[in-house]
Amino acid sequence: MHDTKPKLLPGDFPKIARKSSSILQVNLGYRCNQSCVHCHVNAGPNRTEEMDDETIELILKFLDANNCSLLDITGGAPELHPRFREIVESAYAMNVKVRDRCNLTIMFESGQEGLAEFLAQHEVEVVASLPCYSEKNVNQQRGKGVFAKSIEALQILNRLGYARHENLLLNLVYNPLGPVLPPSQRELQQDYKNHLADEFEVVFNELFVITNMPINRFGSSLISTGHFDSYVDTLRTSHQQENLNQVMCRDTISVDWQGNVYDCDFNQMLEMPLVSVDKKPLHIRDLFVNKIDGLPIQTGNHCYGCTAGQGSSCSGALN
Ligand code: SF4
Ligand code: SF4
Repeated sequence: MHDTKPKLLPGDFPKIARKSSSILQVNLGYRCNQSCVHCHVNAGPNRTEEMDDETIELILKFLDANNCSLLDITGGAPELHPRFREIVESAYAMNVKVRDRCNLTIMFESGQEGLAEFLAQHEVEVVASLPCYSEKNVNQQRGKGVFAKSIEALQILNRLGYARHENLLLNLVYNPLGPVLPPSQRELQQDYKNHLADEFEVVFNELFVITNMPINRFGSSLISTGHFDSYVDTLRTSHQQENLNQVMCRDTISVDWQGNVYDCDFNQMLEMPLVSVDKKPLHIRDLFVNKIDGLPIQTGNHCYGCTAGQGSSCSGALN
């Protein structure tokens, strides 16, 4: 795989700084039952990285000691972590809202019985990737048979009350198949709602439209096909200054499976850690003593992926 980092750094992205952090995004490991072509964490069935017990205890202690409004759990498929349900239960008991980045097909894997019911019982927000409402496009990006299983999982979630009760949020994620900016979130959301309701009786809350980042598997494929530089140019020339205020790194702490902290999960993948005032990479254990509000955010040209056009974040468009 091609390394995109040397092509993105140092870059000319405007300087930005952290505000106060309210979202803790935690990556439990890189194992996944799928191997999607656009995956920015290179997850797959053969990855073995997984958060250890000591780091999990630090995460729970941090949640308890701070005013986090949201625990955003990612992977890989985070549900494959043996302590996934225990982490959710602990956060729920602390009144911290939990968001599960769920790939939907995980519900049908062995050992995942009762997952949908568990998520509903703990009012976990489900954020699920569905890069198109067409079977062909989804299978092309996420693998054969993924579309049918995803629809079945969405129907199960709907039957449990997801997208029907206000405490059971079900949000979908769209990202383009190729090196282009995504279309308008508002319009695409309406298309998704119409198609999924008419054809499958599936309902959901919001569609998060996300720009593909020129890093890892997707970035490498851009280099292989000779589209890397033109794609980064497209992102840079579409930069919207007003999106800078809302980029997710302003109020999110991203933690990797080893407990190292980053401004966002893209920086995590590029191994660009959040650093202290004396330039030391920070670990979650350091955040009990080090203040990170106001620290400069580590940026590179990949950051234009967050500010291009309507903007992009883990919760979709910014404007
Ligand atoms: S389901 Fe998500 S984590 Fe798994 S390979 Fe696909 S994009 Fe990556
Ligand atoms: S990639 Fe986006 S979220 Fe991450 S540091 Fe850059 S602007 Fe912030």
